[in-house]
Amino acid sequence: MPTMLDAVVVGAGPNGLTAAVELARRGLSVEVFEAADAIGGGARTEELTLPGFRHDPCSAVHPLGAGSPAFAAMPLDRHGLEWVHPGLPMAHPFPDGTAAVLARSVGETAHSLGPRDAGAYRRLVEPFHGRWETLAADFLRTQWDGLPSDPLLYARFGLAGGQPASLLTRRFRGEKAPALFAGLAAHGIGPLTGIGTGGMALVFALAAHAGGWPVPRGGSQAIADALASYLRACGGTVHTGFEVKRLDDLPPARAYVFDTSPTALARIADLGNAYRGYRYGPSVFKIDYALSGPVPWTAQEARRAGTVHIGPTYGEIDAALDAALQGRDPSVPFLITAQPSLADPTRAPEGKHTFWVYGHVPSGWEGDATEVIERQIERFAPGFRDLVLARATAGPPQLAARNANYVGGDFAIGSVAGLRLIIRPKLARVPYATSHPAVFLCSSATPPGPGVHGMCGHHAAKAVWRSLRTR
Ligand SMILES: Cc1cc2nc3c(=O)[nH]c(=O)nc-3n(C[C@H](O)[C@H](O)[C@H](O)COP(=O)(O)OP(=O)(O)OC[C@H]3O[C@@H](n4cnc5c(N)ncnc54)[C@H](O)[C@@H]3O)c2cc1C
Repeated sequence: MPTMLDAVVVGAGPNGLTAAVELARRGLSVEVFEAADAIGGGARTEELTLPGFRHDPCSAVHPLGAGSPAFAAMPLDRHGLEWVHPGLPMAHPFPDGTAAVLARSVGETAHSLGPRDAGAYRRLVEPFHGRWETLAADFLRTQWDGLPSDPLLYARFGLAGGQPASLLTRRFRGEKAPALFAGLAAHGIGPLTGIGTGGMALVFALAAHAGGWPVPRGGSQAIADALASYLRACGGTVHTGFEVKRLDDLPPARAYVFDTSPTALARIADLGNAYRGYRYGPSVFKIDYALSGPVPWTAQEARRAGTVHIGPTYGEIDAALDAALQGRDPSVPFLITAQPSLADPTRAPEGKHTFWVYGHVPSGWEGDATEVIERQIERFAPGFRDLVLARATAGPPQLAARNANYVGGDFAIGSVAGLRLIIRPKLARVPYATSHPAVFLCSSATPPGPGVHGMCGHHAAKAVWRSLRTR
């Protein structure tokens, strides 16, 4: 008879690894089983184009990782994780060569929005400025997890952040601030009229002022590697190249924790129709570039920003999101781009650069968006194409083939439209628990949702721990 483990975790993404760490460091025996040959899920780094160019196929920039209460409670720096900061967290260029910026300082950010909106920006963020730790602890939590530590701050944030981005941006009179906020809200790939999309934008802005938008030295893989190294130090084990198809594939354990999609979990653990109504959202078309030099942005601010958003107006960003949501081909996509090698020279040979870009596309879209994406980049960085040494592209089918969690290419592992960002995977007192007493879900299909922050894994581990103690 094999020994009974305390917990088995299926999937070595940031949430699976975080759940495994949190259980192992409480003294439980934990083993992780990962389908891919490498750990990391959405936090990986690979030489996708040319030798010496280290690309992040999925996550690249980590405001939520650097500000995560779960990661902050682990000695990840001693396991190789080092955050490096670009000159500016984010720039949002406009066709006239100017740019709005999200800087570490509120003042510089407000100034970049122009005299008509600088005051409105200050008034919006100042009640929360310097309160990131309280806000993150309260917001990257779940409604099930007791009262917020600062109910007044929580309520105040809820009043602003509960608004759709379409409403929150009405306080601005110019064009730059609404475009900046629409770009921040568009990280969620839901309609800008959705409840809480203003809050998503506000969280990203506050994260920039609190801890910046850093990248890990060496690539996003460093986050997963640090988690796995700490897990091993706590006595845990990780197996790769092991796709779990049925619960019986796994060693006997008191708890099974799934860093998978809810629909895969239902299939593997025989949970019947438990997640029948679960919806997946749109996808992205991703391009990783090896460049012979830095991107020649017209706006000077964009030349020192780690992240650059491309979408000159609120209306253009809204239309691009709408096309992806309504199943139309991208024509003028809103782009989220990152320039990790500006801050981290280990990503490319000397003088050369990596460049990371995606635009939104419909779920399962099989087209090639390279041309529309590069046309959009050229609007703000003329001559960009001349620098391209090599590119690696991935649309929804390629994303889904790499990671079973990305159903139809949806890397949020579930739609974030409407209340689905908050109520996921379905309305339940403990969203991490399932109808099977030993089976739990810990992926970003649970609150607080997508991003490399490990908080879904952290909350799931708590649910597992409580259940094991009572059993
Ligand atoms: C193109 C792209 C860009 C992104 N950009 C950012 C960004 O800049 N910043 C940010 O914070 N986030 C970003 N994200 C989102 C982020 O990567 C995810 O939200 C995060 O990785 C979710 O973590 P997770 O642990 O829930 O799931 P995942 O990271 O998906 O990990 C799940 C793991 O489980 C494994 N698995 C699934 N099924 C099985 C099975 N049956 N058996 C064994 N193993 C299995 C998978 O192979 C995978 O390794 C991006 C994602 C993509 C794709």
